[in-house]
Amino acid sequence: MILVMKVGAKEEDINATINQIKEWGHDVSLAPGEKQTVIGIIGDKSDLTGRPLSTLPGVSKVLEVSAPYKRASREFHPEDTVIDVDGVKIGGGERCVIAGPCSVDTLENVIYLAKVAKENGAKMLRGGAYKPRTSPYTFQGHEEEGLKMMLEAKKETGLPIVTELMSIKDIDVVYKYADVIQIGARNSQNFPLLKEIGKLDKPVILKNGIAGTMKEHLMSAEYIMSEGNDNVILCLRGTRTFESAVRNTIDLTLVPIMQQLTHLPIIVDPSHAAGKREFVSSLAYAGMAVGADGLIIEVHNCPKEALSDGDQALLPRDFEYLMQKLQALTPWSQKEWVEFDKQKQTDCIKP
Ligand code: PEP
Ligand code: MN
Repeated sequence: MILVMKVGAKEEDINATINQIKEWGHDVSLAPGEKQTVIGIIGDKSDLTGRPLSTLPGVSKVLEVSAPYKRASREFHPEDTVIDVDGVKIGGGERCVIAGPCSVDTLENVIYLAKVAKENGAKMLRGGAYKPRTSPYTFQGHEEEGLKMMLEAKKETGLPIVTELMSIKDIDVVYKYADVIQIGARNSQNFPLLKEIGKLDKPVILKNGIAGTMKEHLMSAEYIMSEGNDNVILCLRGTRTFESAVRNTIDLTLVPIMQQLTHLPIIVDPSHAAGKREFVSSLAYAGMAVGADGLIIEVHNCPKEALSDGDQALLPRDFEYLMQKLQALTPWSQKEWVEFDKQKQTDCIKP
């Protein structure tokens, strides 16, 4: 961490700031400049979080040098994390599509959709039994009955179950049925819940918050990992912006950016971003093209009867079309590009 002092900061202010940092238990390294002095704070700075560094005498700017997320960061874990869910791998070049309904509705539908998912190459089945709905008057999920239906679909197809957990009180029941626990956008910063999930030995799909930043997303992953659970899959589902043409704005540049910053797998949720069936597949294709480790997609056999998110559900035939297209796609590899970039001889060609 670096403190850039104000232009012409007085020596007594600089000394007072240095003394305060030392009082907080940190050594400093001083770089006096012609106009501005720079103070480097040495060592692990996690205990300084929340200290009013920007208000110390003469301080103009506080700059972070290393990432505040440690376990999630590539700085501390250079190799890609590959998560293994009952033999299904995700991360480090192992790609995985997860498909299924938004909400589990009937046993017949969920079994049918699990078969559609499996036949077309999806590796896991999604389905919500505890639903985070904007209105308390809409369908809230079948809860354990829904999880039992997911289990039947798993028995028929062998696909591992991905399902959302909303509350600490439901941990035991969701743990019993889920192979991967989904933490949705609304709970992305429910820190007590994240800490409890961190104590479990089950992989987690962690979505970004409704208006969350990339750094907040990584810090939420850090909450889970700080309790010992390193099996976190980050999921980009878009955020709320001024753009009203889409349900959520998804910035796919974040895929290669995050791949540089974190070793965790990153998947894209095109369904909650696009919000409309006709745009889901193109976004799914783009997400894989840009190099995501996978997708989580909503599919329904009869969207008009779906109990949630029918607008954005792909029909089985759409899913089949998309999966065929994806087979022919060579996804971008940021790692390969970085290697290629390293070999370049010059940044400037003068003809
Ligand atoms: C979902 O996956 O159905 C869901 C509610 O997603 P999100 O948390 O991204 O809104
Ligand atoms: Mn949904």
